[in-house]
Amino acid sequence: MERFDDIYLEDCPCCGGVGSMEEEGGWCVYVQCLDCGAHTSEVAYGKEIEKREAAQKAAMNWNMRKVIAPGPGE
Ligand SMILES: [Zn+2]
Repeated sequence: MERFDDIYLEDCPCCGGVGSMEEEGGWCVYVQCLDCGAHTSEVAYGKEIEKREAAQKAAMNWNMRKVIAPGPGE
């Protein structure tokens, strides 16, 4: 898995926890809180070369606090 350590992530807007860049199935990336599970929407990318751009978009959503809070029981 490619590392995105150079992409800055704010603390979780829900709980102040640590945000982590996640990949799913080789087609999208998103940021998820390791503590409460809040996450951004997935940002899809077509080619491997577009992944970094998608990751930056996901990070921007996260940093703008555009996250989906974990629902009860989720
Ligand atoms: Zn959180």
